[in-house]
Amino acid sequence: MARYTESVCRICRSEGLKLFLKGDRCYSDKCAIERRGYAPGEHGQMRARKKKSDYGIQLREKQKLKRMFRLMEKQFHGYFFKAERGKGVTGTKLLIMLERRLDNMVYRLGFAGSRDEARQLVRHGHFLVNGKKVDIPSYLTTIGDKIEVRVKSRNIAKILEAMDTVARRGIPQWLEMDKDNFSGLVKMMPNREELTMPIQEQMVVEFYSK
Ligand code: SF4
Repeated sequence: MARYTESVCRICRSEGLKLFLKGDRCYSDKCAIERRGYAPGEHGQMRARKKKSDYGIQLREKQKLKRMFRLMEKQFHGYFFKAERGKGVTGTKLLIMLERRLDNMVYRLGFAGSRDEARQLVRHGHFLVNGKKVDIPSYLTTIGDKIEVRVKSRNIAKILEAMDTVARRGIPQWLEMDKDNFSGLVKMMPNREELTMPIQEQMVVEFYSK
């Protein structure tokens, strides 16, 4: 399966934005964006000053969102196709669909330090959804779903560490975490205002609508 191999901090630097791809480090002063907030490479500082075309802006917004959720182009485009169908605002539907992914929920609930880590933990079968093992990171959760760490996985250091440090980023209000029972509940779906990610999703829609 294709996957990103580029350094995650390099991705943030080239987008000029904190994408929070590296767990707790992202909240510390070791964050590469805090230390060198310009694009990597010899001409990185000049690139930041260059004026972008409309197409360039749309492309960057699409790349940011795709990279934030650690998806490859084909899979990301697939989400866009689904979001385009039916009623509602395409951009908002796209964001909510991405949020519903099981790996994202595991990350948001604080059972993993980053989406990459969450994906690996899900793949290794450490989580149950409504009592059943689910090892598919793209599994779409829905309102009322209970996500829990399997009993035999509750001593995994990565999970315990993430649970201890999640307070730094906080758990969104549409989710509820029960730390004592290693579980979380999808209480509701977020609305656009609650999704604080710095993405202009309309630009993503325009990118694919050409
Ligand atoms: Fe991005 Fe986190 Fe690296 Fe900072 S530490 S550049 S937010 S991945």
